[in-house]
Amino acid sequence: MGGRYFVQNPGPTNIPDRVLEAFRRPAIDFADPEFVALADSIWAELPAVFGGADEIVVLTAVGHGAWESALTNTLDPGDTVLIPDCGMFGRRWAMMARDLGYEVVSTTPHIRAPIDPAEVADILAADTAHQIRSVCIVHTETSTGAVTDLPAMRAAIDASDHPALFVVDGVCSLAIEPLRMRDWGIDVVVAAAQKGLMMPPGLSFCALSERAVERNRAAATPRFHLAWAPRFEEGHIYKRFGGTPPIQHMFALRAALDMIAETGGVDASIARHRRWAAAVHAAVDGWSSAGPWEINMTEPEHRTAAITCVRTGEVEADPLIAAARDRFSVSVGSAMLTETEGRAFRIGHLGDLNEPMLLGALGGLETAMTVLGLPHGDGLPAAVASLAATAQSSEP
Ligand SMILES: *Cc1c(COP(=O)(O)O)cnc(C)c1O
Repeated sequence: MGGRYFVQNPGPTNIPDRVLEAFRRPAIDFADPEFVALADSIWAELPAVFGGADEIVVLTAVGHGAWESALTNTLDPGDTVLIPDCGMFGRRWAMMARDLGYEVVSTTPHIRAPIDPAEVADILAADTAHQIRSVCIVHTETSTGAVTDLPAMRAAIDASDHPALFVVDGVCSLAIEPLRMRDWGIDVVVAAAQKGLMMPPGLSFCALSERAVERNRAAATPRFHLAWAPRFEEGHIYKRFGGTPPIQHMFALRAALDMIAETGGVDASIARHRRWAAAVHAAVDGWSSAGPWEINMTEPEHRTAAITCVRTGEVEADPLIAAARDRFSVSVGSAMLTETEGRAFRIGHLGDLNEPMLLGALGGLETAMTVLGLPHGDGLPAAVASLAATAQSSEP
C-alpha cells in the first residue's frame, strides 16, 4: 500500500519530519559546551510552556516515570493521596500509588464527565485532620475525552483551606489546553513529550512550584534514579539527567520547541488544537445524524481539544478500528475502559496536524463505516465546513 499511514491515536502522535531528522544527528560529548548550552536553552524555555514553573525535571522515561517521580518525591511512606476516578489514566495513577504503598482516596467512578470540583471539595472539607497530602488531578483524561476545570479544582482545595499539594497530570494537555501553573496555584505538573510536543515517547517532565521543591526536601519515600534534588545541582549535566543525557532526544526537543515558537507559540498551538477538535466534533455529529455514534462527553464544555472518544452504541467498534487501519491506513485508539470495551473508539487530534491530514483521517474512518455497512450520516462535509468557518484564526 502506498502513501502515508495516518496516526490518529491519542499518543503516540504524528512526528514532524524536522523532529525525526534531529534524531539522525550523531552524538556529541554531553559535557561539550554546545550540548550544555542546548540543555540550558530548553530549561530556560520550559517553565513558560507550563505557565510558570520554578523548577523543571526532565526524565528519560515515559509519562509513567514522571507519575512515579511526582509521588515518591513529595510523599512520606504510607501517606494518603486523593486521585479521583474518572477514567483509565486516573485509575492507573491510583493503582501505582497503591502499589507504592500509599493510601488512595478516590471519588465515585464516572466516565462521561470530567472530575467534579464539588466532589473534591467535599472530600477535602471532610478531611479535617489533613491526612490527604496531595490532590492528584488528570487534566485531559485521554480515555474519556474529558478536560478538568483546573481553576475550579484549585478553588475546591482552597474552599476548606486544605494544605494538600496540587499535582496535575498534564501529559495529554501540555501545549493543547491552557495550563497556567502559577496563576492556578499548581504545585507539580507531570507531562510527557509524545503528545502535544510532537516527539516520540521517551521523555517526560515534572514542572515544580517552590512549594513542591520544599515538600521534596522533607519527603521521606526512598528514591534514587527518579529523585529530583540531585538533578538541581548547578553545573552538573550528568546529574541533571540522572545519568547519561538523552542527547538525540534533546536535539529533537529543541526542534519541537522551535517549531512551536515559529508557529505562534504555545497559545497558537492551543488554538490549533481547538480548531481540530471542533472539526472532529462536527464530523461525529454528522455521522450521528443517521447512526449510533455519540461523543462520550455529552457537554461540549467538558471536551478536551486533544482527543474525542466516540461511543458506537450497539455497533462493535473493533472491526471498524481494524478496517480503518488495515484497509484505509488510519489508526485510531480503542476504548481503553471496561465500561466502554468494544463499544468506543478514540480519535486523537493532537500533535503535528493540518487540514488534509485531519480530513484524510476522518475520510478513512467514514470509508470504513461505509464498506462495513454501518449506518452513518455525512461527517466529512461538516468537518470541511467547520475548518472553513475557523480558517481565519489559522491565517499566518
Ligand atoms: C498518555 C498518557 C499517560 C501515560 O503516558 P506514558 O508515556 O504512556 O506513560 C498518562 N496520563 C495521560 C493523561 C496520558 O494521556
